[in-house]
Amino acid sequence: MISSAYIHIPFCNNICSYCDFSKIYYDSTIVNKYLNELKQDIESTYNNELLKTIYIGGGTPSSLNIKELKELFNILSILKKDNDYEYTIECNFDSITKEKLDLFKQVGINRISFGLESINKDNLSFLERSLAITKVKEIIKYCKTIELSNINVDLMYALPNETLNVLEKDIDFIIDLDIPHISTYSLIIEDHTKLSINDTKPIDEELDEKMYKLICDKLTEYNHYEISNFAKKGYESKHNLVYWHNEEYYGFGLSAAGYIENTRYTKTRSITKYLDSNYINSKSIEYLTTKDKIEYEVLLNLRLKEGINLNKFNTKYNNPLSKYYNYNKLIEKGLLIEKDNHLYIPENLWYISNNIIVQLLMEVI
Ligand code: SF4
Repeated sequence: MISSAYIHIPFCNNICSYCDFSKIYYDSTIVNKYLNELKQDIESTYNNELLKTIYIGGGTPSSLNIKELKELFNILSILKKDNDYEYTIECNFDSITKEKLDLFKQVGINRISFGLESINKDNLSFLERSLAITKVKEIIKYCKTIELSNINVDLMYALPNETLNVLEKDIDFIIDLDIPHISTYSLIIEDHTKLSINDTKPIDEELDEKMYKLICDKLTEYNHYEISNFAKKGYESKHNLVYWHNEEYYGFGLSAAGYIENTRYTKTRSITKYLDSNYINSKSIEYLTTKDKIEYEVLLNLRLKEGINLNKFNTKYNNPLSKYYNYNKLIEKGLLIEKDNHLYIPENLWYISNNIIVQLLMEVI
């Protein structure tokens, strides 16, 4: 049963040097066409389910002006919300305004995710992002005043020339803002980004690990509930937990990914194709066997502190996990722990979690 939806708004006022997301420069003529297509996209697939989580991501959804945002929310009003729903929108500090925040509050948005990344001037210039610290403080204060206090900020680290000291200042700034959720990202130099074209090299792995550990050590007041995510109690992202629990969700909009029944799909990344009403034919589809679904279950669940809930796994797949993977071998090596019907990676090994997950997936029976 689908109870979540992701909506992609691809417009940005500025293109960052590291960005691999599907995005285009804001253009009001294209926004109007895009919103029309998005409406058809939703109406052609959505089956009136009650949704527990809705996530508007991008791109930069806050780059839309008030009129366009009103039109967007008008389109999204077709989505029925369950009790206790989570409704998130991604924003950038340079395009958000108090008027937009008031509108979010009015339409039921109850979680905001801000791209902050860093407050260090050199880092920002490297990332080709702008940020006014006074505005950040003013906006966060205003969010809290209007009771939009379920806030995430993104923090990026492991930038060339970044020191532990610079990172520590970024973390302290976020802690001082009293933000209840922090998502952290180690810089990855993706193909076809400006960084990759400029042949930027990643930082030394040893320093990357030290930075990850610094983040973990500084954020002990938070629940480190996923490898890269930290939340004050009760502020864990319900929408992202849908992904990590390998549950189904709709994906609407350019390049949006979805998971429905036995298929995972990704819509086209071409704005021209998306704006063509035949776009539905241009999405890539992965048909999943039970084995594929279990593989996704394992690799997504193991990103979480709680790991794999073995009882739930048994109920979902009518068989215990031990029927599919010989995980005892990894327990013996100290790479996994089985406790209270959960199988998880010990926190001190999270930095090498990808390696552990690959080892487990090779222990297929
Ligand atoms: S604002 Fe976000 S989506 Fe837009 S270019 Fe920068 S990183 Fe990419």
